[in-house]
Amino acid sequence: TRCSQYGNFEKGQLNPYGNIELSPSAGVLNYGQGLIEGTKAYRRDDGRTFLFRPHESAIRMQIGAERMCMPSPSTQQFVDAVKLTALANNRWIPPAGKGSLYVRPLLIGNGPILGVAPAPEYTFLVYACPVGNYLRNGTQPLTLYVEEEHHRASQGGAGGVKSITNYGPVLKAIKRAKERGYSDVLYLDSVNNRYIEEVSAANIFLVKGKVIATPIPSGTILEGITRKSVIAIAHDLGYQVEERLIEAEELISADEVFCTGTALGVAPIGSITYKNKRIEYKVSSELISEQLNSTLVAIQKGIIEDKRNWVLEI
Ligand code: PMP
Repeated sequence: TRCSQYGNFEKGQLNPYGNIELSPSAGVLNYGQGLIEGTKAYRRDDGRTFLFRPHESAIRMQIGAERMCMPSPSTQQFVDAVKLTALANNRWIPPAGKGSLYVRPLLIGNGPILGVAPAPEYTFLVYACPVGNYLRNGTQPLTLYVEEEHHRASQGGAGGVKSITNYGPVLKAIKRAKERGYSDVLYLDSVNNRYIEEVSAANIFLVKGKVIATPIPSGTILEGITRKSVIAIAHDLGYQVEERLIEAEELISADEVFCTGTALGVAPIGSITYKNKRIEYKVSSELISEQLNSTLVAIQKGIIEDKRNWVLEI
C-alpha cells in the first residue's frame, strides 16, 4: 500500500501498491530530481506499534528538497503520510523482535521538463515493505571493502542529502565488492582518497580505548538518524565521541568498528580490507557497539525511558 500526495501535498490518498504514472520527460527520470527517506515501524512485545524518529526524517527530506530545488511536505504532512502508510500495512508488521516494516518516503520531480531545470510538478509518496532482522540473531558480522576507485560523493555535490543520484554511481563498486565476498563498501573522500566517509547505506564509527570516533558530516556524508541517536546514547553512557576527519590508516589500530543505519541498527564489523590487507576485529558481546545497540533497542522497546521523545506510537 502506498500513500500518494500529489502536487500540493495536501490531497493524501491511500492506494494499493502498484505502478505510478510518470511523464517520460519527468525531472526525476531525466535529471535525477528525487529524494528518498527511510524509517521503520516496529512492534513491541505488547503488540503496540511505533515509529522511530519520523520527524527527523521529515526534516532531512526538507533540507534535501531545498538542495534539489523541490518543494517539500511539511513535517506534519510527512509524519501523517508515514503513519497512514504504516497503519494501512499493520498486519504486515512482524511480531516484536522478528523484524520491522521499512517505510520509504519518496519525493520526485514530475511533469514534463526538457531543459535542465526544476520540474513543474512534484509527487510525494510513501510505500512500505516488511523486512527481517538484518545481521542479527547469530548471522556473520559485516565485512567491508575500502573502495579506492569510485567515490560516493564529492564536495559541493549532494552527498549530504538523501538524493537518489548518490546511489546509482556506486552500484558498480557495491556489485564488485559483493562478487568478491564482502558485505559492503566503505567509501573514501574524493579529494585525498584517504579519509573514510561512510558505507553504502550506513554511517561508520571507530572505537579506540574508550573513545568513539566518526567522520564529521561536511556535505559528503549523510547525517544518519541512527548515527545521531548513537552519539547521544554514547554521551549518556559516558563515552567521549569525536566527530572528525578519520584516516583509513586508523582502521588498522582500531579496537572495534561498527556502522549504523535504519536498516541494520548498530552493526559490528568483522573485517575491513584496505589496500589488499584484511584487518580483523574481534566481535563479542563485550563490545561498545553491543552496548550502544542494546540501549537503542531498549529505548525502542520502551524498556529504557525515551527521554528525548524518539519513538512515536501509531
Ligand atoms: N548513509 C547513507 C548513504 C544512507 O543511505 C543511510 C541510510 N539512510 C545512512 C547513512 C544511515 O542513515 P539512517 O541512520 O538515517 O538510516
